Parts: sequence; structure tokens; C-alpha cells
Amino acid sequence: MKRRDFVKKIGVGGLVAGAVFTAGCSKQDEAVSKNTAVKKENVHKWKMVTTWPKNFPVLGTSANNLAEVITKMSGGRIQVKVYGSKELVPAFEVFDAVSRGTAEMGHGSAYYWKGKNEAIQFFSTVPFGLTAQEMNGWLYHGGGLKIWEEVYAQYNLVPAPAGNTGVQMGGWFNKEINSLDDLKGLKMRIPGLGGEVFKRAGGTPVNLPGGELYTALQTGALDATEWVGPYNDLAFGFHKVAKYYYYPGWHEPGTTLEAIINKDAFELLSDDLKEIVRTACKMVNQDMLSEYTARNNAALVTLVNEHKVQLRVFPDDVLRKLRNISDEVVAELAVKDATAKRIYSSFKIYREQVNAWHEISEKAFMRARALK
Ligand code: CA
Repeated sequence: MKRRDFVKKIGVGGLVAGAVFTAGCSKQDEAVSKNTAVKKENVHKWKMVTTWPKNFPVLGTSANNLAEVITKMSGGRIQVKVYGSKELVPAFEVFDAVSRGTAEMGHGSAYYWKGKNEAIQFFSTVPFGLTAQEMNGWLYHGGGLKIWEEVYAQYNLVPAPAGNTGVQMGGWFNKEINSLDDLKGLKMRIPGLGGEVFKRAGGTPVNLPGGELYTALQTGALDATEWVGPYNDLAFGFHKVAKYYYYPGWHEPGTTLEAIINKDAFELLSDDLKEIVRTACKMVNQDMLSEYTARNNAALVTLVNEHKVQLRVFPDDVLRKLRNISDEVVAELAVKDATAKRIYSSFKIYREQVNAWHEISEKAFMRARALK
């Protein structure tokens, strides 16, 4: 069989195999082995450490997805292996591990690193802050990501938005919240800035990891807890130990997840590979939000129809008070240093403008669609 016919027969996909197969010809052998050697030299083997338990639904599986897409899009020139929390480093050491190069990449959320600079929390979410779409507008096209990159460069990191939960739920309660008085002394798991706001409103914020929440609610060690939204909450079974499911999640209106990349490892990439990493992060940033939107919607139907969960909305005067306290707490972050001032100023101007725009677009449309 002539080589041309052989190639025709096995098709384009078999071209390389064909070349090896027909090689009595040493030049071709040489070319193939040389090519393989160059390829091996150029493979970037990356470790991705995450703040999630391995394969945790949506948050962890999105990190897996990000690794897989980078590996596939680069044709294997970057190979990313994912580690769950504690597999290589504990969740709260992900930032430092990637910063010093123990791992080349990480997946988590900026508010975990408030110990570095409290204003970093603006890059994940703040109470009464921005929705997912508004966060994306600010980060990609409103100057937010540029500041984020400058801040993280000080830690030898390149950040990228890499997921969003959308508006979270307000949480699970065993008593109704009819007024501000009902928050007094209430022991609720609500971490971060939301917890600070809750405390100033008279509550007692408690910080417990997700795995301990079910038992704490069951034994009464906790009166209430927030977690994420219907899909993740249903999986934890909170409906079995709490009566009321409150909305909206005023404390986490559109939490952005982040990918962080060690700056030295990133600089070693060719321009096309850098673009592949950035584009894969953008893909997963949107894909996580899409997945949460679809799955939360389905899980809410199950919670309400099958498990008879009682949905409740926080009363207006409670929300108004929480919003006013939130504005104070968030503004206090801004005065700590020049970086904080710069982030807050960009965020604040953007929020005012986007609020005016969304009043007459998203909100007006939602209202119109719901008219009876
Ligand atoms: Ca939450």
C-alpha cells in the first residue's frame, strides 16, 4: 500500500500513527522523537489546591471542570491536577501555598483572605453589595479586576473571577423573624461581614464549618444558620432540623469565587497558554452561575413541594436596619489604608450607577413579568 493510500484509509486522526507505522525511514523517526521531546519539555504540570472538600457539589466540581478545560484547551501543554482541602494544604492556607509556589493554582473566594487586607472582601461579596451580573460588570468592565490584579500582584498572584453562587438564601431558622427584637441574642452561623452586621443588629454570630451545622441546629447549639442556596442546603438536609427558610441572602448577594495563579508560573506560559487560562476561568465563572441557577430552582421545588419547607421573607424593617448597618460596616473597611480606599471608591461609584440602571432594567422587567 502506498503511504498516501494508507493515510487516506485510516483518516486524518491516524496521521501520526501512519507516520510512525510507515517509517522504515529514519528521518521520520527522528522527527517524531524530537517532536515528542520538545513537547515533554513544554508541559506545565500544575497543582490546583482548593478551599472545598474534594468534589463538593458545584463549588468543588467547578474547580475540577476548570482544571479539565485548561488541560483540554491547551492540548495537554498545561496539565492541572486538583486537590481538595487538606489533601495538600488546609482550606485556609490555599492563598499562601499558591503565593509561595507550593501549588501553581488555587480555587476559593477572596473573603477567606481578609487577614491579608480586609478590603479584599470586596472581590468576593459584601452585605447589600452587588449581584452576580453586577459583580461581573464591575470586575471585567468597570475597573474592578484591574485593581484586584494590582492588589494580588503584591502577593505574587494573578487573580481571575472563577464562579458565582448568585444571590444566596437568608438561612434556616426555628422561629419566625417578625421584628428586629427577634434577632436579639439569636445564635446564628453567619461568617464574615454578614456576621458583623448581624452582631450590631443584636444577634450572636457563630462561625462553624459546614459539616458541623446540621448537628448544631439539631441539638440547639445554634438557633439558625445560613449556608448557600437550595441545592447545597437540600443536600445537607437542613429542612429536617429547621422550620423556616428565609430569603433574601442580604449578606451574600452574588459571591464571586476566584482562581489564583502563582505569578511566576503564569509568566512562564506562552501568550496563547495565558489566554487559555484566562478564558477557561471566564468560562467557569459563567458556568457555575448557570449551574446554580438551574439546580437551585429545581431544589427549591423539592424543598417546598416534597419536604413542605416554609418559605419566609425577612420583614422590610429588619432588612432596612440590616442594610443601614451594612453600609456602615462596609464604609469602615474603606478607611483602613490606601488600597482599601481605592477599592471601596471604585466599588461605591459603580454600585450607585448600576443600581440606577438596574432599577429601570432588571428590576422593572421582573416587576412587569410578575404583574397579575
Ligand atoms: Ca453563605
